[in-house]
Amino acid sequence: MVATIDLVFLGTGSCYPSPSRGASSTILRLDGECWMFDCGEGTQIQYQRSNVKPGKLTRIFITHLHGDHLFGLPGLMCLIQGTVTGSATAPEPLHLYGPVGLARYIRTSLILSGTEFTRPYTVHEIDIENTGYDPTEDTNIKHVNETPGRVINLRNNAFSLFETPKYKVEAGILSHRLPCVGFVITEAPSVGSLNTVLLKELGVPPGPMYGKLKSGHSITGPSGHLITPNMVLGQNKRGRKIVILGDTCDNSKIEHIARDPDVVVHEATHQDELVDKAIECGHSTPSMAADFCKKIRAQSLVLTHFSQRYKDNPEDCKSDDDVCTSYLAEQARRDGMEVVAAHDFSPSTLSDSSSF
Ligand SMILES: [Zn+2]
Repeated sequence: MVATIDLVFLGTGSCYPSPSRGASSTILRLDGECWMFDCGEGTQIQYQRSNVKPGKLTRIFITHLHGDHLFGLPGLMCLIQGTVTGSATAPEPLHLYGPVGLARYIRTSLILSGTEFTRPYTVHEIDIENTGYDPTEDTNIKHVNETPGRVINLRNNAFSLFETPKYKVEAGILSHRLPCVGFVITEAPSVGSLNTVLLKELGVPPGPMYGKLKSGHSITGPSGHLITPNMVLGQNKRGRKIVILGDTCDNSKIEHIARDPDVVVHEATHQDELVDKAIECGHSTPSMAADFCKKIRAQSLVLTHFSQRYKDNPEDCKSDDDVCTSYLAEQARRDGMEVVAAHDFSPSTLSDSSSF
């Protein structure tokens, strides 16, 4: 059975949190873990109001250092230190990834506020502008819970954050007013299905021998013949691919690693009619997001990071000047692509490789 991957939007607003919409933060749930993408002011409140289980947050990714993507981080870190994972003596560190400067921001906030944790944390900094940054020059003051991370440099026009047997995470450069990245999460291919009809013909009963073949080992069938995985396994199935972008007015530098995704989470700060203003501020409109998604052959698009002037519900549009986010989703609609305007706490589920 394919594990469900889903997205929970904790904050879908730009600039600042409002009573109706939190500042930027998105949770990706996969294999019992939660990964957070951006952490605007007030995210710890949204986190507690959501159905995301505490204690599951293992990694936090920050697209850029603007406050509406960052100001919630020290508070959120205080919140989740009470939910330590791993053994009591050696808890797993919280891993954070973001542009150069992220470690200094966290360290300064924690030291000046006299904050200490029971759980270590590690910041891996992305050298977006290729400055040759050396973190050892930065660590003459060091937080007691900080363990050294690594500097991630550009290789083949992308940043390789990490790879596990199940997932690969990369980042690519976006154009914005501060150094900014988008993240690409790619699930490893899974083993193809067993040809049970053929196995039956060969006299192999369902059970442990099926498992052996699926894990890549040959078996000896009841008639004494060797049965190899190649004989009875279908083609590997492609893994799912999720693209979560930060603020951007140009995605051309991330295109090559973002192709053929199941879902793209893309900002749409302003409506199409305000395209000049959007680009001037380093932001996108729904059509800009949709055109990028068509170019990389995305199956679906979730719009987020709306200017606080837009309303989530049509019934809140009381005057002619009020615009609903469903109107922005309409502007992004293109043939063959599902488009959704996210709202706070809305989930989007990728239950298999063809839908979410
Ligand atoms: Zn920004």
